[in-house]
Amino acid sequence: MYADRLAQARARMEEAGIDVLLLSVGADLPYFTGYRAMPLERLTMLVLPRAGEATLVVPRLEAPRVTERPDAFRLVPWGETEDPVAIVARLAGRPSRAAIGDRTWAVFVLRLQEALAETAFVPASDITGPLREVKDGAEIEALRAAARAVDAVALAMRDQPFAGRTEADISREFVARMLDAGHERANFAIVASGPNAASPHHEPGRRVVQEGDSVVCDFGGAWGGGHREGGIEGYCSDITRTYVVGEPPAELAELYAVLAEAQEWAVRAAKVGVSCEEVDATARKIIDAAGYGEFFVHRTGHGIGLEEHEAPYLVAGNRAPLRPGHAFSVEPGIYLPGRCGARIEDIVVATEAGPERLNAAPRDLAVVG
Ligand code: ZN
Ligand code: ZN
Ligand code: ZN
Repeated sequence: MYADRLAQARARMEEAGIDVLLLSVGADLPYFTGYRAMPLERLTMLVLPRAGEATLVVPRLEAPRVTERPDAFRLVPWGETEDPVAIVARLAGRPSRAAIGDRTWAVFVLRLQEALAETAFVPASDITGPLREVKDGAEIEALRAAARAVDAVALAMRDQPFAGRTEADISREFVARMLDAGHERANFAIVASGPNAASPHHEPGRRVVQEGDSVVCDFGGAWGGGHREGGIEGYCSDITRTYVVGEPPAELAELYAVLAEAQEWAVRAAKVGVSCEEVDATARKIIDAAGYGEFFVHRTGHGIGLEEHEAPYLVAGNRAPLRPGHAFSVEPGIYLPGRCGARIEDIVVATEAGPERLNAAPRDLAVVG
């Protein structure tokens, strides 16, 4: 599989006139090698020349963590007194154009630019993005498993008390439940209550949840953790459900009905061949028509895979058509500043048979105590 992916990268490099691909920390490296590098001051870098062998340059002490795949790449560990930038520069040859991983630490980019003074650098996502955004069967299965795990958490939380607890406390419960449900790591657990629910990326804090609050809970993580083989670990979940403490206030119930309709129709619109911006427009039109247009302040969705946010983005201006295997969130929200807010988010995969929702937890405004 990794040798295949590297061959696809080489084909794209050929088209784009890139001589060498340099990948360090971030999701590109595990996608192409199965190895996740720690974000360290010691350089890890895959050097993939357009023609010629791929080499993974790793700090010697990290080498035991690398699963060797001789069909895909050769491993070159470097010792503490060696200069890894010089090693990478030597392996790269004299490229006129190099694509370098988007998440590479600036310090290494700067040193490589110095060592390869004649080379023009472009972002690796030009090469890797189009490959990574279309998921294969195993990747979709991993996303499905991650989605099922957070579905179970969303469902279980409907029976938990919210009132009288701080947002931070509830957030910790989401994190613990995600880990229990098979995530290797929780990436975030937004719990935004009452007026805070109007801030889409609110940081859960000391506010105590009260009767009548809407509570936007947006949580996700990376699924896996040694349970699965075959390089399908680390695929992300991302779900939002909105809870309400006690009887929903009329204002909230009203906006929620509009939101639920917008989310439903946006999911249905997400068919192969439909443009990303059209899915966004579908949700926006319904929210606009109900008079809440100015309170839907973000794009409708983002791609998901080894990263929580990746291409394709469902946003006005993105005319790219959805393709089979595209996996993305559909997550409209309505936020009334100083009052309340709500969001509904599911992960959806575009298939020839139509959009497939990976999340199945109930989407109604969940009444909690
Ligand atoms: Zn978000
Ligand atoms: Zn989310
Ligand atoms: Zn999201």
